[in-house]
Amino acid sequence: MIEGLHHIGVAVRSLTEALPQWTAGLGLRLEGVEEVPTERVRVAILWAGTTRIELLEPTSPESPIAKFLEKRGPGVHHLALKCGDTAAAIRVLVDAGAPLLDQAPRRGAHDTQVAFIHPKYLGGVLAELVQDPPEAH
Ligand code: ZN
Repeated sequence: MIEGLHHIGVAVRSLTEALPQWTAGLGLRLEGVEEVPTERVRVAILWAGTTRIELLEPTSPESPIAKFLEKRGPGVHHLALKCGDTAAAIRVLVDAGAPLLDQAPRRGAHDTQVAFIHPKYLGGVLAELVQDPPEAH
């Protein structure tokens, strides 16, 4: 069901302030910045070799990322796991008794289908299931 790590999500207060350390400092490649209005975040997509890292900046105080920053400060926010079929993965997890934050897949950044698993299921780790769009590699 899980095919690998899709990306690691990192909460930042400001992309402008955070990006230079990841790009000029660490030397990661910035693929681009996308706004995801449904999540009220701006997402900077970085590549560490073949591993994707996403920096998440809130665009509203109501953003889940704004609430996370308020409670826990900047840092690792979630692990995203790649799956071929998010809807099927949700069904398997519901049957296993996993608490899901999304009962159906919804649109994530770059036209993905995503669903989040409550962190209480994985020892405090927020996990995101991600299904890439069909035309993606
Ligand atoms: Zn994510």
